[in-house]
Amino acid sequence: SPPNQPPKCAWALGSSAKSPHHHEARKINNKISQTILENIGFTPIIRLNKIEKKFGLKCSLLAKCEFMNPGGSIKDRIALRMVEEAEREGKIKPGYTLIEPTSGNTGIGLALVAVVKGYRCIITMPERMSTDKVSILRALGAEVIRSPSNVSFDSPESHFGTADRLQKETENAIILNQFVNPANPLAHYDSIAEELLNQCDGKIDILVAGAGTGGTLTGIGRKLKEKIKTIKIIGVDPLGSVLAQPKELNVEGIGKSFIPTVFDRSIVDQWHKCNDKDSFKCARYLIQEEGLLCGGSSGSALSIALDVAKDLSEDQTCVVVLPDSIHNYMSTFINDDWMMKNGFIEDPSTANDQKPWW
Ligand code: PMP
Repeated sequence: SPPNQPPKCAWALGSSAKSPHHHEARKINNKISQTILENIGFTPIIRLNKIEKKFGLKCSLLAKCEFMNPGGSIKDRIALRMVEEAEREGKIKPGYTLIEPTSGNTGIGLALVAVVKGYRCIITMPERMSTDKVSILRALGAEVIRSPSNVSFDSPESHFGTADRLQKETENAIILNQFVNPANPLAHYDSIAEELLNQCDGKIDILVAGAGTGGTLTGIGRKLKEKIKTIKIIGVDPLGSVLAQPKELNVEGIGKSFIPTVFDRSIVDQWHKCNDKDSFKCARYLIQEEGLLCGGSSGSALSIALDVAKDLSEDQTCVVVLPDSIHNYMSTFINDDWMMKNGFIEDPSTANDQKPWW
């Protein structure tokens, strides 16, 4: 916040004000689950032994395996939390329609929650997004509406504009809107951050995570900074997006073209830009070397973690968040023909021999 003005958020770091939000303790269930929703979260954290050795790291490099959530991504956590907060506030009840403009994972999480709880679900997304996510959404019974990719986010034809129009046309419909909904960072603050503290016994020196809405970095970062004074939070932003600071780091082009309100960028200590080639190759590396069936943004986070973890010593720990699973990318970076057509590999027969590639 500028000097002499109250912090944007009443419970910003360093503020003694009590949180205005409803917080939830975690309930671990190792017995029979009543629904799959009880199994959202509680994901494993796994040491990347082979990668540590190959890259000569002295520290522990740990992967938080969010691809192991029931819907295949970290977004299951926020989908459940946004729906349950809206239910608690009396804004929705079973039979209502959930509409969300999303490029995929939040949609899959919401579609999953909708199936179990009895909501209708409509997802609007740009045409350029992979058909793999659309197949999963349709399998879960969601209605998917594609919008043109070449329009700006505030155009009425964009996936945001389309969602707004549908909400007006549909009775008892709500847009939970992950970009402005406090339940997004709260889900991370109350669940994944608590799991990390518990799994690592409160010993984390660096956390590396990607930014889309910024909910992950805001929620995890805020809780970890409250508990571990020396921790460094590293934000990973694709080339072409505008989330990183200072803004000179950002390259014009595709990616996020606005700053979501759920994102408190003051939580991030350092920004790193990642490129597609390193991201896809690192994701394939996580799959081939460690058996972690993750998606492309997991590779983005790893490519930066390898860089920042070089400077850590033996007794230090770097945690990298792997947000989603291989399922979303069967026809893209998992496919050698796609990788070749897009110039990411030269020859499929040698694709797996090219590591380490820098
Ligand atoms: N990776 C993937 C695959 C995602 O779908 C998202 C969310 N768009 C992110 C990373 C970033 O998460 P957040 O929205 O919490 O910043």
